Amino acid sequence: MSIRTLDDLLAEGVPGRRVLVRADLNVPLDKQSGSIADDGRIRAVLPTLGALTEAGAKVVVCSHLGRPKGAPDPQFSLAPVAGRLGELLGTAVHFATDTIGDSAQATVAALADGEVALLENLRFNKGETSKDDAERGSFADQLAAFGDAYVDDAFGAVHRKHASVHDVPARLPHVAGRLVLREVEVLSQLTGAPERPYVVVLGGSKVSDKLAVIEALLPKVDRLLIGGGMCFTFLKAQGHEVGSSLLEAEMVETCRNLLERSEGKIMLPVDVVAADAFAPDAAHDTVPAEGIPSKRVGLDVGPKTVAGFAAALKDARTTFWNGPMGVFEMPAFAHGTRGVAEAIAASGAFSVVGGGDSAAAVRALGLDEKDFGHISTGGGASLEYLEGKTLPGIAALEN
Ligand code: ADP
Ligand code: MG
Repeated sequence: MSIRTLDDLLAEGVPGRRVLVRADLNVPLDKQSGSIADDGRIRAVLPTLGALTEAGAKVVVCSHLGRPKGAPDPQFSLAPVAGRLGELLGTAVHFATDTIGDSAQATVAALADGEVALLENLRFNKGETSKDDAERGSFADQLAAFGDAYVDDAFGAVHRKHASVHDVPARLPHVAGRLVLREVEVLSQLTGAPERPYVVVLGGSKVSDKLAVIEALLPKVDRLLIGGGMCFTFLKAQGHEVGSSLLEAEMVETCRNLLERSEGKIMLPVDVVAADAFAPDAAHDTVPAEGIPSKRVGLDVGPKTVAGFAAALKDARTTFWNGPMGVFEMPAFAHGTRGVAEAIAASGAFSVVGGGDSAAAVRALGLDEKDFGHISTGGGASLEYLEGKTLPGIAALEN
């Protein structure tokens, strides 16, 4: 891999240089209070930012947050993130109230060596995500003007062909930050020659997002355990009724096909926690996976499934887990995710957790992060990496 790293940049000397860092500060926000629900992604970029400030760089950080539609939208402001980042870094973070406008220009111009600025949400600008090369390019020109060098430490965004990850590195000397480097090192172990048995656990909400990775992983894994909202499309493909559980009807045929070709590697839930409604206090009980009552919604995998999945994980030497087993945000439906996460932690395998919600679940359920080999900050990015796709942000660093 011909990627220059943060250490290469530090060796050149950064005092007095403005270093533009693309970080992934896209943290989950509490729906009611708007406060930061999980600061894992902020913590993940601290090693890179700390190294740069210590070395005396003028650090200009940029990130997206949520999915604003190309214009300022206060609910997606990075202002609370600036506060938290400052606390964690132990130094004030100068916040620019726009991304490339007057505030950004003044904030960057005023930076002293070793200081940090955070620009407002990249996606407040149409150019960031534009499919039009020229529109993206002109936004990238303006961003690149804030840096003498560029560091990509936004692993969660490297699979996006966006201005800040794909076009800015073409305009500045560029290196991979500590986080991006570590993520790529770990994931390449999984695509290379993982120690066996190699067991993958997939859950979460959207089958269509994850079919490609199932397809790519099937030949490589020894076992593939499927839970979460996506299991119902597979159960349907086996001919079972799934009530009002999450279902992607147009994917049933593809799932049936995958099951036929899976050589018995795919394990599905044998029992399901079925509720009266999608609500934290809904009445619920455990039913066999092939007997979900018509008006019920499956919100978690049941205890027999957890035991079966745990048995399948017991002798694993390598595991990859993406996607919660149930609606873990509601305590009544968090048992499956907790049980499977505990089984992964207990297996002693080299374990990789990928996915924003999965990583958040590890922390929200009070599990010890140290029991996992690596918790990836990138959901889509880690999946696309495992699929063997070219990631625009990584390719841009290689050039
Ligand atoms: P990740 O971010 O780890 O890749 P996803 O975004 O694919 O995971 O999915 C996470 C979401 O899936 C969680 O918000 C969780 O509530 C939801 N989920 C899990 N199981 C179910 C289910 N049975 N029904 C509906 N949603 C589910
Ligand atoms: Mg998610």
